[in-house]
Amino acid sequence: MRTIIEPFRIKMTEPIKVTTRQYRQRALTGAHYNVFLLDAEDCCIDLLTDSGTGAMSSNQWAALMLGDESYAGSKSWKKFESTVKKITGMRHVLPTHQGRAAEGILAQVLVKKGQVIPNNSHFDTTRANMEFAGALAVDLLCAEGMQPARIAPFKGNMDTDRLKGCIRQYGPENIPFCMITVTNNTGGGQPVSMANIREVKTILSEHNIPLVIDACRFAENAYFIREREDGYADTTLLKIAGEMFSYADAATMSCKKDGLANIGGFLVCNDDRWAEQFKNMLILREGFPTYGGLAGRDLEVIAVGLMEALDYDYQVYRHATVQYLRKKLSPLGVPMVRPVGGHAVFLDARAFAPHVPPLQYPGIGLVNAIYLEGGIRCVELGSVMFGKFDEQGKEVAAPLELVRLAFPRRVYTQSHFDYLAEVIENVWNHRDAINGFRLVYQPKFLRHFTGRFEPVE
Ligand SMILES: *Cc1c(COP(=O)(O)O)cnc(C)c1O
Repeated sequence: MRTIIEPFRIKMTEPIKVTTRQYRQRALTGAHYNVFLLDAEDCCIDLLTDSGTGAMSSNQWAALMLGDESYAGSKSWKKFESTVKKITGMRHVLPTHQGRAAEGILAQVLVKKGQVIPNNSHFDTTRANMEFAGALAVDLLCAEGMQPARIAPFKGNMDTDRLKGCIRQYGPENIPFCMITVTNNTGGGQPVSMANIREVKTILSEHNIPLVIDACRFAENAYFIREREDGYADTTLLKIAGEMFSYADAATMSCKKDGLANIGGFLVCNDDRWAEQFKNMLILREGFPTYGGLAGRDLEVIAVGLMEALDYDYQVYRHATVQYLRKKLSPLGVPMVRPVGGHAVFLDARAFAPHVPPLQYPGIGLVNAIYLEGGIRCVELGSVMFGKFDEQGKEVAAPLELVRLAFPRRVYTQSHFDYLAEVIENVWNHRDAINGFRLVYQPKFLRHFTGRFEPVE
C-alpha cells in the first residue's frame, strides 16, 4: 500500500521555536517540573491535548468571514442548526461555548440530588457536572477496556450486564438518563461499537430511561465502526453517525474535538419539554438560543468543521498518524496501551521506568524526560492526576501510570512524527536515567495543573 498522505496542503505557517537542551532544562526548573506551567512557545511539539488545538481549513477560514453577528436568527445560526440536524437527526439544537456548558445545562435541568448517572466512562468535566448536581456518576466500562495490553476492537464499550445490575441496584426511577461517550476519552480514546449502543438502548428502553450520547469524537467513532464492525464497510461516516444518534434522546458535544474548531459546543435533544427547559437555562447561562455562547463566525466555522470531520479521507489520514507513531515505537519495545485510540497514544510509564516507584510518579518522570530530550509536551495520567488519599491520609497510587500523547488535528506533519519517535526512542534507550519526583506544593483540588515538583535524588 502507498503512503497515506496528508489530504491537505499548507498555505499558512506558524513558526515553532527550536530550543537547546540547556534552555529546556532552565524552562523546566522555572516551571517546577510541571509542564502545565511551561510557556506554550517553549514547546516545539505540543501534545498536551487535542481539544481546540486543531488547524482550520481554508473553507473554515472563508466561512469565518461570512459570520453574521446578528443577535437573533442570524444566517450563521441557520447553517449551524441545519448542519447539526443533518448529522444528529435531532429536533432541537442549542449552541454552547464548550462541551461542559452543554453538560452543565443537562445536569442542572434533569439531575436531582441522590440520582445515578451511568456512563461507559465519564469524562472529568461530565463527572464533575453530574456530581455538582448531587448525582452519583458510575462508570460501567467493559472488562477488556480495563486491560491495557489486551487487543480488542471496541474497548470503549459499556458492560451491558453491569448496566442491568446498576438499574436493578438503584432502580430506574433514580436514573434520569444514561450516557455513553464516543469515543471513550477516559478509556484511552477507544471506540464504542454500534451493536453496543443498540444493546444499551434496548436495555434502557425496557425501563423508560433516556440515552444521552457524549459525542465529542463521534466522527472518529464512526470511522472505527466502518473499519471494524461487520456491515458498515460501505456506509458513509455521515450515515453511521446518523445511526449512532438515532438511538439517543439527547447528545452533548464539544466542537473543540470533532467540530474541528478552536471553541464551541452544543446540546441536542428530541423531547419538546426538555428543549424548553434547556433553552431557559441556556439563556441564563450562555446566551440567546440562536447563538449560545458563540460568535456568528464560530457557528460558521463549526458548521463547516463538523462535515469535514466526517470526510472519510480525513479520518483515514487522522488514524494513519496515530498508527504511524505506534509502528515506529512498537518494534523498539516501548510499552503502550494497545490498540492505540483515535486521538492519542498512551505510553505505560510504569513499564517504561520500573525503577521509579508509583508514588515517585513515573509518569511525571517520563513527561519531563520527553520534554527535556526534545521540547515535546505531553501529559501524565497517573498517580498525580488520579491519586487519592485513604482514611488515614496516606497517598494511594492510581491503578495505571500513563503518559498521553494527544494529537491536534491537521497540525503536525510526518516529519514532526519522525522527530517525535526519535525523541521517544532516545528517552527509551536511556530510561534508567528517568527520575522520580516528589510534590513540594499541591493545591486541594486538581493538583496536576498547578502542583510543583522536585526530582528525587
Ligand atoms: C473535551 C470533552 C468534554 C468537555 O468538552 P469541553 O469543550 O472541553 O468543555 C466532554 N466529554 C469528553 C469525552 C471530552 O473529550
